[in-house]
Amino acid sequence: MQPTDAELAVMFRWTLHTRWGVGGFMGSEGDPDFTCRCDSCTTSRRKRWAKESDTIDGA
Ligand SMILES: [Zn+2]
Repeated sequence: MQPTDAELAVMFRWTLHTRWGVGGFMGSEGDPDFTCRCDSCTTSRRKRWAKESDTIDGA
């Protein structure tokens, strides 16, 4: 069963964009609660999820 984008954002919160948003960049202040949910981050989370669920199934 595929998780929703929102579930993925909780399971795999830490993407490059999330780190940028939390840490701040280009002189802007970070937001400690920021989680990036752009298409690129969602796609990379989905790949991570697929990889991890493969590992669990194969165990
Ligand atoms: Zn992003």
